[in-house]
Amino acid sequence: MPLRPYIVGNWKMHGTRATLSEARAIDRAAQRHMKVEVAIAPPYTLIHPVHREAEQIAVGAQDCHDQESGAHTGEISAAMVADAGAKFVILGHSERREAQSENDALIRAKAQAALAAGLRVIMCCGEAEKVRDAGRAVAHVKKQLKASLPETIEDAAEKLTVAYEPIWAIGTGKTATPEDIAEMHGEIRKLLIALFGEEDGAEIRILYGGSVKPENAGEILNVPEVGGALVGGASLTADSFMGIALAAGEAEEG
Ligand code: PEP
Repeated sequence: MPLRPYIVGNWKMHGTRATLSEARAIDRAAQRHMKVEVAIAPPYTLIHPVHREAEQIAVGAQDCHDQESGAHTGEISAAMVADAGAKFVILGHSERREAQSENDALIRAKAQAALAAGLRVIMCCGEAEKVRDAGRAVAHVKKQLKASLPETIEDAAEKLTVAYEPIWAIGTGKTATPEDIAEMHGEIRKLLIALFGEEDGAEIRILYGGSVKPENAGEILNVPEVGGALVGGASLTADSFMGIALAAGEAEEG
């Protein structure tokens, strides 16, 4: 049975305990939209408070270290975020690939650590504008994704989600065209089937991310092979985030 559309909020470095009211409102609204799986990844400091309050939504982390423990000042392990209540972790986000110079090998090691700690993984991939302009977007994303994902994942359809996020669309108000999204998601699907087999590879959800808002969500979520959205700015308030979840529910009904 196909998995439900997955709408995930990445709160990035936004939110304090005062923001818990938004998480609560998202959770209450998600209880009325059961056809859609809703989750948020707040800053580390809010993982446990959100987990404690949430009845419906899953809470996740925006990153984790590749080691279980040790002398890594300022870092946090997969087991630690799981202990705080996280059920998943976002890995390979372009902001970390760029600002923290994370490469594919490190991201793969983080994914292995996360899976070993019982977390689900949302693996991000995407191309810069100059790569798309040069006509190399598909080849770039497939290479990046293949090198970032662990070679084997048990129950991959359940444990893994891929998020295609063109870097030039993140936080810019620009979005890829439905045709470009369809082409990229179709290519990612073929790669996932090649990597994880027909059964799991066909089921793994592929999210689109990059300036998704309630106003454009319907069009994007209706594109073939789009299994949900990874949402930054528009996930910070329950109103806009749940507007996207509503569009996902409508896209599911066709
Ligand atoms: C993101 O950073 O994952 C993202 C999609 O951000 P935004 O929705 O703000 O473009």
